[in-house]
Amino acid sequence: MSEEQDFFDRILAEAPNARRASQGVLIESGNVLLHLTGVIKHSDLEGLSDDASFYASFCSREDIERIKKPKVLSDFLLQIRAEAIVDNPRLIRVFRKRKGNKKDWSLDEYYKSKFKESIYLKSLSKGNQKKLEKIPAGSAYLDNVNATCMKTVSGNIIAISESLENYLYFMNIFFYGDDFGLDQADTFSAYLIAQRIMAGHESYDFDLDSRGELPTHFEDFLQSLTNLQYQFILGHEYAHHLLGHLNDSRLFKEDLSIMLNAYQGDMKIQHYKYSHKLEYDADWHAIKNIKGNSLYKGDIANAAFLTLMYFETSRLILDYTNPMRGSIHSSHPSPTDRILKLRSRLNNKRGFSREQLENNIEYLTKYTDHFLKEYLAFNFDSFEKYGSVYLPNYKKKLLLDRVEF
Ligand SMILES: [Zn+2]
Repeated sequence: MSEEQDFFDRILAEAPNARRASQGVLIESGNVLLHLTGVIKHSDLEGLSDDASFYASFCSREDIERIKKPKVLSDFLLQIRAEAIVDNPRLIRVFRKRKGNKKDWSLDEYYKSKFKESIYLKSLSKGNQKKLEKIPAGSAYLDNVNATCMKTVSGNIIAISESLENYLYFMNIFFYGDDFGLDQADTFSAYLIAQRIMAGHESYDFDLDSRGELPTHFEDFLQSLTNLQYQFILGHEYAHHLLGHLNDSRLFKEDLSIMLNAYQGDMKIQHYKYSHKLEYDADWHAIKNIKGNSLYKGDIANAAFLTLMYFETSRLILDYTNPMRGSIHSSHPSPTDRILKLRSRLNNKRGFSREQLENNIEYLTKYTDHFLKEYLAFNFDSFEKYGSVYLPNYKKKLLLDRVEF
């Protein structure tokens, strides 16, 4: 660390146009802006493959060894996590920030410390726990707002996109903001941020540049709700595994680049072909598999309903911005169909009633319809412009990219 600091201090002293950045040093000359973010020592990488230096700023030596020569199943999830970051400069900055000054940082340890899976796992039968214990699962910065259960040569792994969590977080601000006294301008911005995440236009730098600091009691509520939604999604992917949906006959191969933004490698992934029945079954089993904790079961059911309601708004928007999409995605059941199917299978005592669900879907559909006609129709360019949107009443001062964050 101090070696790195010494290096930056020398640059600052010697280069006339150098100035301190939030991470490292900026050097400006004419139209060129050079951002030095860190120092990698070749001596640390001896014996590793030539491209190891690309991973070194956010991986430990052991991480890199595992990524380059995966041996056990968990190495494959680590590989997906690292490949999601390596070709994306902004994500590298996000992970440098997460790393901070920690000397013994490792990407694997970082994701392990964020382990949120145990709550869901512990609620399952001993038999299912045993079947799932060995299935590596958790977050990765996948490009699409999605989760996936995929098959590797050593077995199945589950990855849940961090941008999906970001999406749910902002949709929750939108949906519950009014109850917590937020202004309409802020709930609208939260909706806009979420839909821009879904469409791929919002930059993945929430760690670096907060979109707004919300009151603690609301923030706590949001974290716990988003976490329940994450657990439902995890349960859904676990159900695909438990139900044997990744049998060879249903698998197809795709380039990993369909899931990772800017990914330049040639790795392939295998996942299963979507079908209405399998999706309905995975939704239902995610909840059915929970044993003996009816309160938690109801919480997960409602988390599922909310998640699917939010997906319905995004389906409307993506169909509007990309009319050809409908024919491509016709094999996916619509989120509303999934909600109604789940409701019909679930014990009536648990979760939102059918009437509550229908009212909420109607409200969200109307809001989205209004958004399309009154906002998006006139603001197409700004909606699709890559960058950041803020919550106006909770972001007092806009910060300068690279200099301040
Ligand atoms: Zn599924």
